[in-house]
Amino acid sequence: MTEEAEPAAVALPDLVREVVTPAAAAEILERTRLHGCNPRKLDSSHARRLARDMCNGSWDDYNPDVLSLCSHGAAIQGQHRLEAVIISKTPRSFLVARNVPHRAATTMDCGKARSAATALSLVVVDRHRKDISSTIRLLQNYDVERDKVAWPAWRSVVYTNAEIVRFFQSKYSDLPDFLPLMTAMKSGVYSSPAASLTCAYLVHRDGGSTSHADNFFQGLISGGHLDTADPRWITRRYFHSPARPRRGNITSALHLGLLLKTWNLWVTGQTWEIANFRATQRMPDIVSADAPCPQQANQALRKPSKDGPVIPRRRAAARAAVPGQTMGMMHLPTEEGFPV
Ligand SMILES: [Zn+2]
Repeated sequence: MTEEAEPAAVALPDLVREVVTPAAAAEILERTRLHGCNPRKLDSSHARRLARDMCNGSWDDYNPDVLSLCSHGAAIQGQHRLEAVIISKTPRSFLVARNVPHRAATTMDCGKARSAATALSLVVVDRHRKDISSTIRLLQNYDVERDKVAWPAWRSVVYTNAEIVRFFQSKYSDLPDFLPLMTAMKSGVYSSPAASLTCAYLVHRDGGSTSHADNFFQGLISGGHLDTADPRWITRRYFHSPARPRRGNITSALHLGLLLKTWNLWVTGQTWEIANFRATQRMPDIVSADAPCPQQANQALRKPSKDGPVIPRRRAAARAAVPGQTMGMMHLPTEEGFPV
């Protein structure tokens, strides 16, 4: 090691723990704009996500990430946190470094971002963490965003790692119990891991009857002894088609919609001619096996003209018996556009 590279000789800035009020944060950001000290564009949706963490207890005040201010008193690191302080209207403590040279920003925030899957490892999720974190996103969209955001737009709903961990701990901590079923569906049905795990979870949570759920998944996964009028048979044919969508960030929501529609049809004794779930359709509510009253069934299968015909099973059997016909009529969305 050469003399000038001696680490002890390099002066790091002193850190001081400071409480930053919304007013102080606004002043720092104003100086940042005035002097043009931070070429990084402020991403307001990222700031809003951090503010959400700050408002709902997901922000960790032990986080020692430094707020770096230059000689102008402008933020060269930490502008999103400052914006989040303003949005959340709550003072927050940070470790603050002052008089940091502008050039130091060259090497800031170049670290490898931590994934939600890694964050889950800290709350003792020890396997399939990536699938579980994707599933938590899908479940949260299903449970909370379903009535606000159309399912093709779920990809634009972003959660912070802290939120994923909080959702897991407060609502979905029993998700790992359904991992064996996810693995079986992945290899038997070819549905995406997150759609498989979400479907397994939701049908057991909202489907009303464990024995019905077991029966449903057994047939769906194995395909054994299904007649051609069984909605599971038709759904399996969709997933087994080489043209099925496999990639893309809305594939899981699409697969989930198909799987939930299959459950609803099966549990109400109905079927479909072709497996379809279009961009204009609503993500279905799950019909309970305990009380599939006609009203609930109708609600789950509403707008039959748009959703494709809902037909009693016997008639469907006759139609599906025409070989090749259903395959050609399948509504297979492409990556870019969906059939409407
Ligand atoms: Zn500056």
